[in-house]
Amino acid sequence: MPLIFFAAPSLWPEYEVALPAALAEAGIEATVVTEAPEPGLVDYIVYAPSAPLQDFTPFTRTKAVLSLWAGVERIVGNATLTQPLCRMVDPSLTEGMVEWVAGHVLRHHLGMDRHIVNPGHVWNPVCPPLARERRVTILGMGALGTACAEALRALNFPVTGWSRTAKPGCLHGDAGLEAALRSAAIVVTLLPKTPETENLLNAARLALLPAGAVIVNPGRGALIDDAALLAALDAGHIGHATLDVFRVEPLPADHPYWSHPRVTVTPHIAADTRASSAARVIVENIRRGEAGEPFINLVDRSRGY
Ligand code: NAP
Repeated sequence: MPLIFFAAPSLWPEYEVALPAALAEAGIEATVVTEAPEPGLVDYIVYAPSAPLQDFTPFTRTKAVLSLWAGVERIVGNATLTQPLCRMVDPSLTEGMVEWVAGHVLRHHLGMDRHIVNPGHVWNPVCPPLARERRVTILGMGALGTACAEALRALNFPVTGWSRTAKPGCLHGDAGLEAALRSAAIVVTLLPKTPETENLLNAARLALLPAGAVIVNPGRGALIDDAALLAALDAGHIGHATLDVFRVEPLPADHPYWSHPRVTVTPHIAADTRASSAARVIVENIRRGEAGEPFINLVDRSRGY
């Protein structure tokens, strides 16, 4: 059973080891290759958009395209990709996101900056409120948002979640979004990029946030209207924005985010896919495909994530 790896060549040394190890662990015999002289013989494609492959038409026998990335906006609209598309939900990626989000939320909650960068050696005994007094809103309560909500609640933060569909303890719809924003001291955006979520945080919605609110965006750059955010920061309405993702990456050197005193830029490092655990997720889907069981983490093309 041929399995082809189409991703940035720099990833191959790790996956060259991790994929055969996970296949052996699952008792599946498969050859993992990086080139397919006969695309019609390939059963599964392990894929990241960092690979040049754009035309999936020749892969007539392929049972699934297994994404190494959690976000699939760069391939979900590819008309040649008619095979089932599964995205990455990796326990290590989730763990990394929880750590990044908790770290940045705590930074702002505790006001760490004024003590870490204090060139004037100012004795400034400002005691932060308790976490229970600071509401965090998470936009996007999927695999990552839910895990972040659990971790923040464990630290005593009251957490409001908002998602597309109704689910217990989670707001949804326009009225739900308005309520979630109006009560948020810190907003964490963990939505996928789709036509519905693009510019979700526009000027009108940013205006709903209480003065001084902080935005933490590890989701996708396009979720935020950049000009509106910069204007809200300049006006002092938004206290700080910690941004991990951008419309253009790497963030261009002349982008105003780099020099804005109340913006923190991190270079898309909130959560990485780890080869050893991701390979197990990939192989679980291969096992399912071979056993005739439904795939996990299947992307719904109609909703775009
Ligand atoms: P997921 O499990 O698919 O969850 C997505 C969540 O967003 C779901 O709760 C979904 O609502 C909600 N949603 C989607 N469209 C919506 C809309 N129009 N209105 C309201 N809610 C909407 O995805 P995930 O695994 O948590 O990942 C989320 C995103 O994180 C990824 O798409 C990717 O962009 C980003 N990410 C970033 C990094 C990084 O390093 N910075 C790493 C991994 C992922 P329902 O629950 O109702 O479906």
